[in-house]
Amino acid sequence: MKLSEEGRREALALSFRHLNISLLAIVLNGALLCMLLWDIPQRFMLLIWMTVLLLVSLWRFWLYHGYRRHQSSRTMQTWERLFLFGVILSGLTWGAAGFFLFDTDQPLHQAVLIVVLSEMSAGSISSLAAHLVAVRIFVILTLTPLLLQLLLHREGYYLIFSFFIALFILMLLVIARRFYGSFVDLVETRRLYEHERTQLYLSKERSSTIVSQAPVGIFFYDTSLRIIEFNAEFCTILGAPVDFLTGLSLAMLPDQRVVPAIAKAIKGEDGLYEGEYQTQYLKRQLFLHLRTAPLLDLDKRVIGGIGIASDVTERFEFIRQIEYQAHHDMLTDTPNRTMLIERINREMVRFFRERMLFGVLFLDLDNFKTINDSLGHTIGDVLLCEVSQRLKYTLGDEDMLARIGGDEFVILLCHLGKNRHEALERMEHAAQRIHTTLSETVEIEGRYLSVSTSIGMVLMHEQEERVDDLLKHADTAMYQAKRDGKGMSRFYQEQMDYRIKRLMLIETALRQALKKGKLRLYYQPIIAIKEGRIIAAEALLRWHNEELGEISPIEMISVAEESGLILEIGRWVLEEALRQFVAWRETMPLQWIAVNVSSKQFNSPDFVSEIFLLLERYDLPSGALELELTESVVISDFDEVVAKMHELRKHGIGLSIDDFGTGYSSLSYLKKLPFTTLKIDRSFTQDLLIDEDDRELVSTIITIAKNFGLEVVAEGVEQQDQLDFLRQRSCEYYQGYFCSRPLDAIAFERLIAHHHGMRGSVL
Ligand code: C2E
Ligand code: MG
Ligand code: MG
Repeated sequence: MKLSEEGRREALALSFRHLNISLLAIVLNGALLCMLLWDIPQRFMLLIWMTVLLLVSLWRFWLYHGYRRHQSSRTMQTWERLFLFGVILSGLTWGAAGFFLFDTDQPLHQAVLIVVLSEMSAGSISSLAAHLVAVRIFVILTLTPLLLQLLLHREGYYLIFSFFIALFILMLLVIARRFYGSFVDLVETRRLYEHERTQLYLSKERSSTIVSQAPVGIFFYDTSLRIIEFNAEFCTILGAPVDFLTGLSLAMLPDQRVVPAIAKAIKGEDGLYEGEYQTQYLKRQLFLHLRTAPLLDLDKRVIGGIGIASDVTERFEFIRQIEYQAHHDMLTDTPNRTMLIERINREMVRFFRERMLFGVLFLDLDNFKTINDSLGHTIGDVLLCEVSQRLKYTLGDEDMLARIGGDEFVILLCHLGKNRHEALERMEHAAQRIHTTLSETVEIEGRYLSVSTSIGMVLMHEQEERVDDLLKHADTAMYQAKRDGKGMSRFYQEQMDYRIKRLMLIETALRQALKKGKLRLYYQPIIAIKEGRIIAAEALLRWHNEELGEISPIEMISVAEESGLILEIGRWVLEEALRQFVAWRETMPLQWIAVNVSSKQFNSPDFVSEIFLLLERYDLPSGALELELTESVVISDFDEVVAKMHELRKHGIGLSIDDFGTGYSSLSYLKKLPFTTLKIDRSFTQDLLIDEDDRELVSTIITIAKNFGLEVVAEGVEQQDQLDFLRQRSCEYYQGYFCSRPLDAIAFERLIAHHHGMRGSVL
């Protein structure tokens, strides 16, 4: 029963509000009392009392007035104290009447006094109801002096009266307390009510602001799924006017995809729909995000639902684009490795479940790097697009083309059936189709380019359990196809793995070796048989790798040719051999240096001009350089090769045909090509002594060579008898372990020094 600060303020205001009426009642009652007691002997006292009563009332009226006008001039506590002071003064005045004006001789007067005082006290209960202390003080101050006066008479009649007055005081105090209790309840309840009302108002205001200003569409619907209320954004999202949406039945929407989420709220659950939606009014296609929740009444009964909708088309499109980009190669607009792997995984699952075969074709364009480097990336890009376009045409609906690297494509051939043999055939056909499609020249910016691709193929089988392995095997097969020539396709075989791995290792290591200058040249003497004198040297490539060991030049050159490193290596060999030769010429009577040239190197467009530059740089005389070519050089473009050879010859460069007898060895070549020297392959030399046929063959080769005006070098001479045979047949030169193995530059110098010291004795 305690008032809050706010309640006290209200109670004080109420007390003051009633004060003017109370004062009027007091003055009227005072006047009435004066009239009724006019005859009492203490009339003078009565007049003084009335005057005091008037003065007190006047002061209290002044207080009342002050409170109403200048309430803020004093604190609430001060006003409370002043009010109480007024009550005390008033109570004392009335109490004084009960004590001093109690006329013992006139029972009527006494009765009047008792009635008036009782009435005043009783009245105070309502007029001072808001102030319990004031009521208590007023009642006690007003009636206690009367009670005392009655007790002072000590007669039975007075005592009975005094008992009643005491009882009356007690009753008034109890009632006052009750009154005050109700008052406090009332004030506090009202205050609470006001507070709640304000809160409710604010919350309603907030909600309606949120609903109207929210950047999402909000709508309310009843249990029959009819829209009751919605915000402006909802209209915007759906592109529909207010009239159209009001009362619209959501259950009857033409696009029913959102309905389950909407209906869920009516069942008391939250609903969610995220997906495409076609609006009813404008038939606009959008991507909608919709959340729904039940609307409940106070008893927690569902009375409808609230839906929050947003148009996430832009975000969705963006995500879709990002996803697309993550799964596609942007240049050719084909799936990328990520998507390919996902797809292969799915096909693998299917294979293990249904035994449905699928195959992987790994494509790598031949010579793409050369095109890219020589014609520029723009043309390279256009070519890639064209290739991917053509490849797409060769695919079936279920197949997939992916670009997984610069010029690397993978084709996934799906639904190849359950028969392995047939599946392999279908893959073979597909590869054939690809080769054919790509064989047509591509025109880019007026240039006609021809492309071909090497294809590695793998057909899915039980042992292939990982996508990575599958792709690696296809890659290995592709590598093999590439080694076998341009425009080839090969199926993966297990034994390929080791070989290809080694080749790949060599390629990487070779690249490093070249960069770090780890390649070396060895020199093998060429001896003029008649004079028995070292007359020239052949430069032979050597490379020792810490991990791979000594790599034979044959293996090295084949890897270098495939990876394109050959041009750089060839350049280095020529330069190094010539540098060494020039250094030796000062001190040694060497007439020429022979350098091996691979067919790819020879066929490179700049080969001849590079040689001329070198000759110029080292200022070499005619006949100082001899290039050793194998027959494979000639296979490519005959006319161009002939032209190049003539040009080289014009500058006095010797050209020898290396390993004669092992290749295609068409004598007609010999006639047409301006070779200067013929080198008999060591396989013939070595069997000279045991094989009659070889003796015959070597004799014939020497004779023919002489007829064509060629000098002859016999390779691989290891024994005196072989040398004797060659000398007999007038072969001019030989090479072989009989004289020396290929040696490094220092050992070679030592050999020459030693050889010249005892010229002729051993050779
Ligand atoms: P090649 O040009 O026919 O070189 C002769 C090969 O026969 C050398 O092998 C040499 O060591 C070996 N040889 C010489 N005399 C004898 C002998 O009496 N008995 C036996 N068993 N072998 C003998 P090598 O150095 O291993 O070179 C192999 C091939 O690698 C060369 O054959 C050449 O075709 C190629 N090659 C070497 N260096 C280069 C190079 O710098 N560029 C190019 N394009 N090819 C090179
Ligand atoms: Mg050679
Ligand atoms: Mg040879």
